[in-house]
Amino acid sequence: MRIMKFAGDLRRPLIILCLLATSGWAAAGSTGAPFDPALDAQLARLLRIAYDKPALALQILQQLQLDPAHAGSQQQMRLAEGRIQVLAGNTEAVKRIADTLAQDPLQQARVNVLLAEEADREGRSLQAAELAEKALAGFALDCPAGQLAQAVQQACEFRSAWAALRVLTRKQQNEGVLSQAEASARQGLKLAEAGGDNYLRVMSMGSLAVLNQLSGQAQESQRWLKQGQQIAQGDLLAMAHMKGYEAALAWRAGRRDDQLRGLEEGLALASKADAPHLVAQMQVGLADAYMRMQRPKQAIAAAEQALPLLQQQGHQRAQRMARHNLVLALIQARQFERARRERTLLAEMRQDWSDRAILIEELREEGEAWGAAGQAKEALILFHAERRLNAELVALNRETSLTQLKVKYDSERKQADLDLLTRDKSLVERQLANRQLAQQVGLALAALMLLAMGLAVMMVKRVREANKQLKANEALLRAQSERDPLTDLANRRHFLGVMAQQPHAGFNGSLLMIDIDHFKHVNDQYGHGVGDVVICEVARRLSHAVRAEDLVVRWGGEEFLVFAPDVSLDHLAQLAARILHGVGGEPVATESGPLRVTVSIGFAHFPLPPSRLDLAWEQAVNWADMALYTAKARGRNRAMGIATVDARDSDALLQIEADFDAACSSERISLLQVLGPAAR
Ligand code: GH3
Ligand code: MG
Ligand code: MG
Repeated sequence: MRIMKFAGDLRRPLIILCLLATSGWAAAGSTGAPFDPALDAQLARLLRIAYDKPALALQILQQLQLDPAHAGSQQQMRLAEGRIQVLAGNTEAVKRIADTLAQDPLQQARVNVLLAEEADREGRSLQAAELAEKALAGFALDCPAGQLAQAVQQACEFRSAWAALRVLTRKQQNEGVLSQAEASARQGLKLAEAGGDNYLRVMSMGSLAVLNQLSGQAQESQRWLKQGQQIAQGDLLAMAHMKGYEAALAWRAGRRDDQLRGLEEGLALASKADAPHLVAQMQVGLADAYMRMQRPKQAIAAAEQALPLLQQQGHQRAQRMARHNLVLALIQARQFERARRERTLLAEMRQDWSDRAILIEELREEGEAWGAAGQAKEALILFHAERRLNAELVALNRETSLTQLKVKYDSERKQADLDLLTRDKSLVERQLANRQLAQQVGLALAALMLLAMGLAVMMVKRVREANKQLKANEALLRAQSERDPLTDLANRRHFLGVMAQQPHAGFNGSLLMIDIDHFKHVNDQYGHGVGDVVICEVARRLSHAVRAEDLVVRWGGEEFLVFAPDVSLDHLAQLAARILHGVGGEPVATESGPLRVTVSIGFAHFPLPPSRLDLAWEQAVNWADMALYTAKARGRNRAMGIATVDARDSDALLQIEADFDAACSSERISLLQVLGPAAR
């Protein structure tokens, strides 16, 4: 299920950012089109209205066009008219305006930004990004970074450049090239700041909050959110947008209640600002939130309320999200027939969509929804469609982005689960066959007791052998299913089995949660194959560093968990030091040359001293994970251990768990730090 991405995007960002960043370019060239900054501010207010009421905005614009004071700026107004027609979903009019503008070569950048916005709204994101780039290259000439403040008073059409950057940011975000997306969004923010346009500033900050969250920079993300909220104060529409961003952040963090609250408050603000389009967007988000809270009726109602307006304004991208959410909600409500009808409409909309990553995500979500509703046939069809697209995507673009990787890993995990299921199935089949064989033996014994004693003995022997074989196979299959195929370490399933056999109610022993530092760089710079080699080598070094009685588990992609059943806190710190040095001491040899690889560790001994309260193992893992997070935050290549926790009862413990950072600062938790090897 998807909600509106309140974010806007650069494909060849370097060239354009360089243009924007190089002062002195202004003198070298310019679009040369006449530009009136005061009129631009007026038109920007009109575009704000147009977002929700395009017809009204057009009416006001026509009056402006009749005003002889603006005779020199007809082209500028024509661009505004085009952008309003885009918002009205009026493709014919957009085309007509673009053609008229294109007759004058000086208007090329404006034509491009207009067509980029139209393509973006219709979901042709590749084309939108290309056009936006061209537009930017044109505008950049009049917007030199060194003199932005003066340029926006003169010929720099910063709002149009901002609009183009937003289209690019969105595209890059969807492709998962987050650092580039962030660079584009920051460039947009610079333009909005130089131009003193608070509304655009707010939108850029919201976008940066989302991008920082996506790249794991939670604190930065919150900082942008707060700043955006402050600037939005007093402007209902901007406040409503910030609520949308707040909800989007909560959505990604899985905080359903916060997501719902953000959207409900955003909806109220958007209604108060009399902004029906934004209201519809909030409803699309609400459909998602309700759906995730297992409230399909409300989800259906929200999507149904949003759709007519989005349809009327021809907003394909938003319409598609709304309809996708509707399909998921219908499946959840077990209205299968209607869900099938809606998904046919959706499939038609998807035909000229170039954005495979989004399509893959949608197919995955829909497949999961059918699966959850027990409709295995549909689930399987979608799963295969998703895998096929994924394969195409990987072939198309070897440097897969983070998002695409995640999707791929999900599929692989599912495939692995399916493999396990098939193996389990073959086990059962063999057991059944064996039972049948035993029955046959019984019958044969009864009938041929006297005559065929010898034969019966032979058959009994066969059964024994078959049984032995079966046991051996069973043990082998079980062992295989509890191993990670890449590293040959134990996997999560194995660890779960060990935990199930723990004698105590509370978890007893030590845990070290280990995560490779900056591993994404390894994948990004040297490719996935080298990434795998590094994971294997780290796994080998880990196994070497721990004691024979410790269990090393591949916990996730590049995360490992060590369970040391019997070790004191002091010795635990030594074990952490051995791991840090064992992994980070010597570079890892790869086909791309030696790579320095370090890890961060969070560790603790349970029950936690001094009060030694009982904890479930899942909670214990979470404590180790929180300590790991602290080790990351303090600079990586180190281990943070939990020495003591000041909690008298389980409630106090839960409270501390809910805000670990605060508990560390207030010294309710005392931590122990072990540093890794210094870089050589
Ligand atoms: P940090 O140390 O600060 O946590 O940064 P990081 O780059 O390690 O960030 P994070 O741990 O979130 O990213 C892990 C990445 O590991 C994400 C995914 O692309 C990659 N990954 C996960 N599993 C595999 C795998 O089996 N093989 C390869 N090559 N990469 C994997
Ligand atoms: Mg990592
Ligand atoms: Mg990780």
